[in-house]
Amino acid sequence: MINSIKYSFIIPIYNEEETISEMYRRIDGVTDQLDDSLEIILVDDGSQDQSLKMIRDLHQHDQRICYLSFARNFGHQIAVTAGLNFARGKIIIILDADLQDPPELIPNMIEKWRQGYQIVYAKRTRRRQESWLKRLTAYGFYRILTKLSDINIPTDTGDFCLMDRQVVQQLNAMPERNRYIRGLRSWVGFKQTAIYFERDPRFAGEVKYTFRKSLALAIGSIIAFSRVPLRLATYLGLFSAGLALVMVVLVLYWRLFTPAPQLIGYSMITMAIFFLGAVQLICIGILGEYIGRIYEEVKGRPLYTLQETGGFTTDHPD
Ligand code: UDP
Ligand code: MG
Repeated sequence: MINSIKYSFIIPIYNEEETISEMYRRIDGVTDQLDDSLEIILVDDGSQDQSLKMIRDLHQHDQRICYLSFARNFGHQIAVTAGLNFARGKIIIILDADLQDPPELIPNMIEKWRQGYQIVYAKRTRRRQESWLKRLTAYGFYRILTKLSDINIPTDTGDFCLMDRQVVQQLNAMPERNRYIRGLRSWVGFKQTAIYFERDPRFAGEVKYTFRKSLALAIGSIIAFSRVPLRLATYLGLFSAGLALVMVVLVLYWRLFTPAPQLIGYSMITMAIFFLGAVQLICIGILGEYIGRIYEEVKGRPLYTLQETGGFTTDHPD
């Protein structure tokens, strides 16, 4: 059955009632140009608005539309993961529902696939109408991540991409819960290439990635792809040891070579205690982040819970 579908589109949806119709119209415009069979997988990430109802209606009206609906909000990366688990196509394309990732680029991506690339990701050259804070934090984050991680995660790329079935099978076989798809996509290797685009503003509605969600994604991705923060404890420890040594030399000098021994004083001692306390707390905090992730992995809970599906003949295609 798997081979009868050529293209799978995966679109995560969280409270997107204002964008769904337009998104469908734009996707439909692109799929018209593709003559092979395809499926459009809409993943409802526990929306509280009319999104699920609209998705059901689309499914009724267009047989190519399949959907998954989560029993609560699990987050964008998990929604994409679920889509990947269920996708049956030879070529899998991930894009956002808010039309910031223009579907019209998909034929170019497919062209690259024909040239032999198994992963084609879209790289933003500009973000139109996004706040300077978002642009600045995103700019900084991608560069820090690249510096800290051993693998080469391309900067300024989102989840908008095309992947060959072979790649998706690898991603599906990864048991980890911390699913920073962009990172995993680089980690697997294969022949990868970029296409460039200017990111459009959101078509309608509010941004669903709140500051908290973005921060959690950023911290999670650094922890999943780098052990450098753990080494920070060693560096801070060495730094404080050096500082202590300087103090010893100073105290000895005062004692031996100055007539009246200098008092270091309470303020100095208090400062030293606070400094060391801070260093230790920071290190425990970093350790805690890693241990927390280990705990999450060990529990081995499913990545998501489904309350409804539509259009899939079997529960799991693979
Ligand atoms: N999204 C999701 N679950 C969430 C948050 C977002 O499925 O908890 C979806 C959202 O509907 C959209 C995509 O992820 O299709 C990207 O979200 P958004 O446009 O708000 O973020 P940004 O453009 O800032 O990355
Ligand atoms: Mg968006």
